[in-house]
Amino acid sequence: MQYSNFPKFGKISKLGFGAMRFPKKADGTIDQEQVNEMIRTAYVHGVNYFDTAYVYGGGASEKALGEALKQFPRDSFFLADKHPFYNLKTKEERDEFFQTSLDRCGVEYFDFYLMHAVNSKNAQGLVDYDMVNWALEKKKEGKIRFLGLSMHDTNDLLLKLLDLNDWDFVQIQYNYLDTEGEPGKTGYEELLRRNIPMIIMEPLKGGVLVNLPEHITKPFQELGKSNPEMGLRWIGEKEGIVTVLSGMSTLEQAKDNLAIFQNMQPLNEQELKAIQQVKENIIASQKVGCTGCNYCSVCPMGIDISGTFKAWNTKAMNEGSSNWISGAAIDADMIRKCVECGQCAAHCPQKIDIPGKLKEVLEYFG
Ligand code: SF4
Ligand code: SF4
Repeated sequence: MQYSNFPKFGKISKLGFGAMRFPKKADGTIDQEQVNEMIRTAYVHGVNYFDTAYVYGGGASEKALGEALKQFPRDSFFLADKHPFYNLKTKEERDEFFQTSLDRCGVEYFDFYLMHAVNSKNAQGLVDYDMVNWALEKKKEGKIRFLGLSMHDTNDLLLKLLDLNDWDFVQIQYNYLDTEGEPGKTGYEELLRRNIPMIIMEPLKGGVLVNLPEHITKPFQELGKSNPEMGLRWIGEKEGIVTVLSGMSTLEQAKDNLAIFQNMQPLNEQELKAIQQVKENIIASQKVGCTGCNYCSVCPMGIDISGTFKAWNTKAMNEGSSNWISGAAIDADMIRKCVECGQCAAHCPQKIDIPGKLKEVLEYFG
């Protein structure tokens, strides 16, 4: 396993285990046995950073991860969790949410603690609820070791957030497809310039950079490389990065990721060119930059937004193919139920005009 070694944190595995997409049983509950095995496999192969959040799976992720980590001494791994400050209605709830997270995970403290998914719409909540001072108190009490935030928003917002506090770290989305977006390359370079350690989320854009049709990833195939390997190596070797979070849903995925990080080599000229070519291929054919995070799944009409966008991209990326394409069908009746209330778009970290895009989907599929 490759490790970062920032003086204030110590040795942290370059591969971080994201607990947002745990495997589920047929009844929809998390498959704890599988989770235990996945976490054990990652741990024995050197992964020591595990990331969850209050809101993941309505608390199920914290419980499952906490349960799985009981197999190991508490001081042998780093546990990261996140505060849902955007759901606060009173200052008293700050402690209630925090204590709930500790209890669900079955721990006394968090190594890394983040203000979760800060964006331009909810950022004022950090000020209104005095979140920074509250969290600094928790640090003094020894319940938080390192304080940071996660954000998917603009670079303007990033700069404002950096003025709020001397954060120990910042978590951003970054991958080879997102360099021109925000925070993107500009945000990454700003954090690097300020010496603020970064944790990277969505290194494979929620699986988008994994599940690509062959004609798009031909440059990788010609080099005998897999899609995850190229995506993870692109980000894994960058400067200033503590760990790269990968949301793992199966033991197979965990093993594949471990193999990539066991012996990570810098990308050579040819490989960099292949990444650039694949990136251009994706941009030329993709319809919508959805990561499948499902933060928009608040639709009062029950519309499956991420599933619809996935089908649209799948269809578009396979344009010209005469074959039946699995996963490229949409439910037009469901999409027509959209009343354009905009609730979904307000939650989208990628700033997608969801109701507008849903109309385009209907036009595209005729
Ligand atoms: S805008 Fe449409 S898709 Fe979005 S929440 Fe409202 S009804 Fe659902
Ligand atoms: S539309 Fe936005 S919020 Fe919804 S799944 Fe896609 S990226 Fe996430």
